[in-house]
Amino acid sequence: MKRTEVKDTGKSRDAKSAGIPGPRNGTRTITLIPGDGIGPEVVNAAVEVIEASGAKLEWDRQLAGAAALKRFGTPVPDDLLASLKRTGVALKGPLETRVGEGYRSINVYLRRELDLYANLRPTLSFPGVHTPFRNVDLIVVRENTEDLYSGIEHQVAPGVVESIKVITARASRRIARFAFEYAKRNRRKSVTAVHKANIMKLSDGLFLRCARAVAREYPKISYREQIVDAACMRLVTDPCSFDVLLLENLYGDIVSDLCAGLVGGLGVVPGANYGERGAIFEAVHGTAPDIAGMNLANPIAIILSSAMMLEYVGYPRQAGLIRRGVQSVLKSGRTMTRDLGGKATTSEMTAAIVRAMRNA
Ligand code: ATP
Repeated sequence: MKRTEVKDTGKSRDAKSAGIPGPRNGTRTITLIPGDGIGPEVVNAAVEVIEASGAKLEWDRQLAGAAALKRFGTPVPDDLLASLKRTGVALKGPLETRVGEGYRSINVYLRRELDLYANLRPTLSFPGVHTPFRNVDLIVVRENTEDLYSGIEHQVAPGVVESIKVITARASRRIARFAFEYAKRNRRKSVTAVHKANIMKLSDGLFLRCARAVAREYPKISYREQIVDAACMRLVTDPCSFDVLLLENLYGDIVSDLCAGLVGGLGVVPGANYGERGAIFEAVHGTAPDIAGMNLANPIAIILSSAMMLEYVGYPRQAGLIRRGVQSVLKSGRTMTRDLGGKATTSEMTAAIVRAMRNA
């Protein structure tokens, strides 16, 4: 365990300023999961930026995914789970999930194991990142624990498989409440539930009925519904007409990447998974094996995820400093990684953000 400095002021978590409940165990030790592919590079960048922000945290480094499989013979070592249960908060790099083979997604496993039911992805335009739209400001709220991600699949007969979509009233109500609470605390104007209830009348129908019931408790926030295909078309033609999006797990996974594309791609969009007892902060991108180990990855997504984490553990000022640093670097356009059309390396981008924070 690398010890930087531990300080607990005894103050209650300030995470409510972000509209998110903070952890209850009174510690500022963070489980640090470097992850696979570009994970270690971008996670190290985030640690550098957090330390430059002045936030005093203790890191409990843990392996997961392919790195843990190689070292310990399992992608989810007991020590990792114990650390997550102890700290309640993790900063995590992407983990490798093989397509159509091997172990199940570790991300899905961890979210379900820790009951991190709400995935939040704030998607914001940045000055200096050129995209067709300038003022995108969307909050994607995705249910994280059920739907087709329940992993219930079986072969009915050779050549025929079934994959079961599970939707429950309990999970639908709590994610709807999360979306409305977020909207209320962050002064957002509307919540749009995205669905396909015209086809999946029972499952998506239940999700919508729960969302409507919760919406009635928040009369000041406008509630809308949109079918997922129409919502995708409107997102790419008129994204500014949306505010908070409320989605089941699968639609949320797909639509949130679409939203990332509206503001500059996977390299700039942060993400967090919240539950009642803890949270994991991670970038929305994957392991990017094509550029892993080359010092080419854009660290901004995980750096902005760290800012969300700092808010959660009671460092809102440091979170603001990091966001201003990122914005200033992007606005100047002088230090851009390859995905943003520039030539800067991961380390150069990180150093530029730290410099911008010092000058802020
Ligand atoms: P995985 O299987 O882990 O999801 P992937 O390569 O299929 O990996 P992503 O990692 O999400 O999916 O990457 C998709 C593309 O976006 C890749 O070409 C990758 O190089 C690029 N990319 C993803 N994240 C970043 C980043 N942080 N910086 C630069 N490029 C990135």
